[in-house]
Amino acid sequence: MIDYELDAEGIATLTWGMPGRSQNVINGESCAALLAAIDLATKDESVKGILMKSGKPDFIAGGDLDWLLEADRAADLFERTLALHGALRRLETCGKPVAAAISGTALGGGLEIALACHYRVASDNPNARYGLPEVTLGVLPGGGGTQRLPRLIGIQNSLPLLLEGAKLGAAEAKKVGILSAVVPAGSEVQAARDWLLAQSMPVQQPWDTKGYSVPGGGVSSPAIQQFLMVSNAMLRAKTYGNCPAPANILSCVYEGLITDIDTGLKTEARYFVNTVLGREARNMIRSLFFSMNAANKLAERPVGVPIRTYARIGILGAGMMGAGIAYVTARAGMVAVLLDTSIEAAERGKSYARTLVARQVARGRLSQEKADALLARIVPTTDYAELAGVGMAIEAVFEDRAVKADVTRRSEAVIAADAIFASNTSTLPITGLAQASARPAKFIGMHFFSPVDKMPLIEVIVGKQTSEETLAHALDYVKAVGMTPIVVNDSRGFYTSRVFSTYVLEGLAMLAEGVAPALVENAGLQAGMPVGPLALTDEVTAELIVKIDRQTRADLGPAYRERPGQQVAKRIAELGRIGRKAGRGFYEYPQDGRKYLWPGLAAEFPVATTQPAISDLVRRLIAVQSVEAALCMQEGVLRSARDADVGAILGWGYPPWRGGTIGQIHSTGLAQFIAECEQLSAQHGDRFNPPQLLKDMIARGEVFYTR
Ligand code: NAD
Repeated sequence: MIDYELDAEGIATLTWGMPGRSQNVINGESCAALLAAIDLATKDESVKGILMKSGKPDFIAGGDLDWLLEADRAADLFERTLALHGALRRLETCGKPVAAAISGTALGGGLEIALACHYRVASDNPNARYGLPEVTLGVLPGGGGTQRLPRLIGIQNSLPLLLEGAKLGAAEAKKVGILSAVVPAGSEVQAARDWLLAQSMPVQQPWDTKGYSVPGGGVSSPAIQQFLMVSNAMLRAKTYGNCPAPANILSCVYEGLITDIDTGLKTEARYFVNTVLGREARNMIRSLFFSMNAANKLAERPVGVPIRTYARIGILGAGMMGAGIAYVTARAGMVAVLLDTSIEAAERGKSYARTLVARQVARGRLSQEKADALLARIVPTTDYAELAGVGMAIEAVFEDRAVKADVTRRSEAVIAADAIFASNTSTLPITGLAQASARPAKFIGMHFFSPVDKMPLIEVIVGKQTSEETLAHALDYVKAVGMTPIVVNDSRGFYTSRVFSTYVLEGLAMLAEGVAPALVENAGLQAGMPVGPLALTDEVTAELIVKIDRQTRADLGPAYRERPGQQVAKRIAELGRIGRKAGRGFYEYPQDGRKYLWPGLAAEFPVATTQPAISDLVRRLIAVQSVEAALCMQEGVLRSARDADVGAILGWGYPPWRGGTIGQIHSTGLAQFIAECEQLSAQHGDRFNPPQLLKDMIARGEVFYTR
């Protein structure tokens, strides 16, 4: 794990080289090895200096999340945390100089170990990143990061890094003071040695020297008091108090820096244990790390199908979606043939990519040469013959069955027999659209989200006749464009639109019941959703909701069940207040950009004299989505809980600290969730009836996640 070598000049070198792993991580084994090596180096009198380095391209990538989740008893985790703290304290207080030679990335626990060294010299490696990103997974730095970083670079400089989890490049890390020096790649070990040999003992950390004060002011200085007050308020505004990790980080900094470092570390350990064992951290780690990684590694890809690479993709329809799909395709190095009914429309689609790359060139993020090459790969056309040689054609024309059927037939007349045809429909069942295809086994749904260049999710929809090979090859494209797939079986609204719409419609139903519009919106935000249901309706337009409902009604006939919110959407659309694009919806959108709720709402939807508790509204807005997601599992629309959660988080900004629509059920507990649903169903109607699947799972002793 850690190679220990003592040379003739008295420098003990600790080289991290975890066998069988591409990166060093902190886990039970490496931690034990580190503790032993620190013990040896600090106690051996012939050691005059200690050098910590990595035998791998990166320094230490951070904590091993499997190891972190293994500990489920607070006492064990606390003990483990204190053991690491103790060892790092022994290292930095032993009097001998300690230097870290950092070859590449040092994140989380890796950077925390480097911070316990007196000197940190990094290789000038453009790919290396430094930071404490724990908060992005709902945890906090537990290796002393909340204590050493602010003591090193000041509270004001460290809080944004701790609260946002930013990963800095070498130059920035040097500028803020995280790194002591940056040297040409390959010379960092020599630089660390030179520094060690030039020191005379005892060497101390700044915070252990007499008269130390926190750079920029301690917690009781007036400027920092004010800064912390604002930070706390801003955090509250952003998280609604929902996410414990950032709040606990603030507490660690505040409480820890009032005291000496040893007490501060103990404070951090307590908050760390509390946070790691909390439901929110477990949900975030599971969904954002394990499930997201599985999706990106194409866990749902049928095995045994050879990987397909694409050189040329056809995109039919150069509107909002087609333009975005062409851009991400060309960005990934493929030729994107962009076809529309007029060359002007096709060119307009290409100009979307022009605007995007021009912005990146202006910001110095893309060279002119690469920008030109990217644009050259987008070929606007009206000629189907250009589709010859594409590995896949993606259709993004009007949401109209006849138009889609027409482009399907015309494309299939040109594209190779083994090429895939994908539809980006947002509402029309794939199996029905495939009826226009002469080879339905090659027909699949690929539901992109808008704006395509910013939304990383693609919902891949398997129709009744779609082959396993087609699914595999569609997923190969998703990977090639660097996006995240979820795989669902065909259904009305698929998974994402179907579940997302229940949130919107539940909010509209509340309005019909007389709940104050501001309360509905705040309940949405308090639930953790990025936007309230009324503002969301304005974004997607009430018109679209009504249109989809009309289609659903026509398609389903007697099986159609209306949700109470539909009438509200219908009414606001009738009033011509169709949403933001019309400048009027549930909100007014004045020129100055400061939208506000339309004052006329009260006349249309009278506000009741007694209002429900916001917690009841939050429960409804969350439960309604989970019930629908569970129905999707029950009906086999969803193939895995993992995809439900990843799709919710990436597709419509569902709060990751709840895990996802299914993660929410899992972390509530099946029995408890069923009980809540039964209560909601009695109060608000059978749309809250708990799906049979959940009861069956209890009977069979099953859970959605074992981790
Ligand atoms: P859009 O109206 O912006 O673009 C449609 C484009 O298709 C237009 O440029 C039109 O000229 C072109 N077109 C129409 N008939 C054609 C034909 N016969 N041959 C070639 N081109 C033709 O629409 P959009 O928002 O880009 O949506 C396109 C598809 O993507 C729809 O099926 C829609 O449901 C789906 N979708 C939209 C969103 C969204 O947020 N807008 C999200 C996911 C999926």
